[in-house]
Amino acid sequence: MIHLTYQYKLAPTQQQQQTYDEWLETSRRVWNFALAERKDWYKSRACLIDRCSLRGEYVMSPDAPRPSFSSQCKALTQARKVYPELGTANAQMLQQVLRRLEKAFVSMWERGHGFPRFKKPGRLRSLLFPQLGKDPVRGNRVRLPGVGWVKMRLSRPIPEGFVIKQAQVVKRASGWYVMLTLQCDFEVPDILPHGEALGIDVGLSSYLATSAGELVPRPRFFGDLQRKLKLLQQRASHKVKGSNNWRKAHYKVAKLYEYIRNCRQDFFYKLAHRLCDGVGMVFAENLNFKAWARGMFSKHTLDAAHGEFLRILKWVCWKRGVFYAEVDFTGTSQTCPSCGANTGKKELSVRVHRCPECGYTTDRDIAAAQVVMQRGLAAVGQTVKMLGEGLSVGSP
Ligand SMILES: [Zn+2]
Repeated sequence: MIHLTYQYKLAPTQQQQQTYDEWLETSRRVWNFALAERKDWYKSRACLIDRCSLRGEYVMSPDAPRPSFSSQCKALTQARKVYPELGTANAQMLQQVLRRLEKAFVSMWERGHGFPRFKKPGRLRSLLFPQLGKDPVRGNRVRLPGVGWVKMRLSRPIPEGFVIKQAQVVKRASGWYVMLTLQCDFEVPDILPHGEALGIDVGLSSYLATSAGELVPRPRFFGDLQRKLKLLQQRASHKVKGSNNWRKAHYKVAKLYEYIRNCRQDFFYKLAHRLCDGVGMVFAENLNFKAWARGMFSKHTLDAAHGEFLRILKWVCWKRGVFYAEVDFTGTSQTCPSCGANTGKKELSVRVHRCPECGYTTDRDIAAAQVVMQRGLAAVGQTVKMLGEGLSVGSP
């Protein structure tokens, strides 16, 4: 089974926009209410049983169960009978808000993400409809819950043999979009390792290095735009809250933010396609991004958004029929790709790999990419040649 997500720009009427704006606001309130309920439960159990906390005391029966997805769904169904604005919004969509909250708690428990936060007005920007009726797309129109047929720009056709499973409507600075999740039932054979291999190493000084000896520089546009964004944000923060100028300034920030996101994705897709040219296998490091981002390089690492790039690379490889695998990254910068000797830990300032055993000299990131390739080949059971045994790649 394959799942694809295609995004299309919507052209909703004033009336349709108004309905979805209201639903976004309703969703936000549901989120905040459900979050408050969960928070209260935690607070009522936060202090020790034989003493009072200094800040306040939540009185709640000791056997009140922890609010869960299902208990909150039940409560929502009840509330919909009492509150008209809840009743008019799509029920499944509101349940998805609770599901998202549940997920936020699960990633806090299991992956150490932060405590879910309350959302300010306008900060909840997407509506998820888990079910659409039969044949929801006809021509260049899509039928969505609550608003009926909405015009959309059919920038690419929906592929044959796929059914539309769910729709997510997103409000961005540049307008409304729909993300359609398409599903296809036929099995696709797994891509087997074949052809030329390429190892890549995502780094900090250059954006990426390949085992073929290429260094891709960090895109400059990103730093420039980031500075511009900061300036606009500062300006926006000086406006009188709620005024016309305040709204205009915030709109500018949101527009630029969206533009940056688009630039980055465009760069990622183009780079990923280029890496797939002429190779049959791509190996990347399996980095623990979170641990890395928390360390001293957090700022650089985060704007480089390596995790997002690898996700896109994986997808592009799949589409292009290129085998993709991630390998253990520990010590890639300590191993010599030419003779396999351990060359010891390098300081980050040392940019060149120079092997004391065999004299192999190359850029540090390229050497790491070559080690990644060798580990990848070993992992898929192909014979690995050390560079010293005849492969000559990228030595300066
Ligand atoms: Zn060596």
